[in-house]
Amino acid sequence: MAAANLLGLDAQGMERFFAGIGEKPFRARQVLKWIHRRGAADFESMTDIARDLRAKLAAAARVEPPAVVGEGTAADGTRKWLLKVDGANAVEAVFIPEEGRGTLCVSSQAGCTLDCEFCSTGKQGFSRNLSAAEIIGQLWLANSALGFHAGGARAVSNVVFMGMGEPMLNLEAVIPAARLMIDDNGYGLSRRRVTVSTSGVVPGMDRLAAECPVALAVSLHAPDDELRDRLVPINRKYPIRELLAACERYLERAPRDFITFEYVMLDGVNDSGAHAQSLLGIAARVRCKFNLIPFNPFPGTRLRRSPPERIRRFAEVLQRAGLTVTTRKTRGDGIDAACGQLAGDIADRTRRARVAPIVEARA
Ligand code: SAH
Ligand code: SF4
Repeated sequence: MAAANLLGLDAQGMERFFAGIGEKPFRARQVLKWIHRRGAADFESMTDIARDLRAKLAAAARVEPPAVVGEGTAADGTRKWLLKVDGANAVEAVFIPEEGRGTLCVSSQAGCTLDCEFCSTGKQGFSRNLSAAEIIGQLWLANSALGFHAGGARAVSNVVFMGMGEPMLNLEAVIPAARLMIDDNGYGLSRRRVTVSTSGVVPGMDRLAAECPVALAVSLHAPDDELRDRLVPINRKYPIRELLAACERYLERAPRDFITFEYVMLDGVNDSGAHAQSLLGIAARVRCKFNLIPFNPFPGTRLRRSPPERIRRFAEVLQRAGLTVTTRKTRGDGIDAACGQLAGDIADRTRRARVAPIVEARA
């Protein structure tokens, strides 16, 4: 039997593992701390564990993150790692340092099945779901590469599931990984500092609310079904009305929270004053904030980024109605590390149904 990779086990999984080898449950807590709080990968270094148990662990288990096969640092300090997850696939993780915090953007799948028109990952096709070890391994590796700030705090203070893939289609692995992030024996991040972003997979939203209600971001991108059907094809399955109802249910499980609506700004497609106005109807239904994301182009796309002045006017319409709006700064220029540019290296094994007509940018 192959040695179990303990890296992806949350508290419950770890207790089950120790029960399975005839050991006491408190060992789970000890080993979790060694792996995630201290970054240990070698059982021999776990000095408060008796020598014979260390030997037993070395025979039955391993702690194995994905291999780093490429990395880059942009002038603004943004760092990107290319992580090999198997013989055919590599995914990306990005660290974005900001004043007072550091955000790690993690991938949840090698590729994505959902084929959004404006997304480079979507255009790569889909290979497979990442395991919990491959997801939490991105944080484990970033922590070991970045270490601590001078003040003693970890460099990574926030995690967003906004890399490659649709997290709600891989909750089997995303939930244990998110639990490790908020576990005091794991990374000890507060529930609000871990954000899962979804294009609107409604059943997944309900499951996450029930099992691990961390912060939620929803990729809205259009105020009506006609446009959203084209930009975000999953809208045909879960239209805006159902998506908003799921947001409301989510907030029932996470009171005092809000939904972050992400909105990619596409020149001449979804960025007019009228589009902004009709978003107000949506905002009236759900406690929310808006995050405008200037489109990041990638090879082969015909879409273009909205000009800054139009983005400013769009934000103003929402702000005048009392909404909180932020416009995402483009980070990681020069290393293709901005939102939607992550491509990794995907062996596309699925034929995606091309359901969306190509959206034409205004000439
Ligand atoms: N699958 C999830 C999470 C990954 S994408 C989702 O779609 O929400 C993270 C965010 O980046 C989403 O809001 C997505 O719409 C946005 N995005 C994708 N491609 C982009 C691009 N080329 N430019 C700007 N944002 C993009
Ligand atoms: Fe998948 Fe999100 Fe990209 Fe859409 S935007 S293709 S859901 S990763």
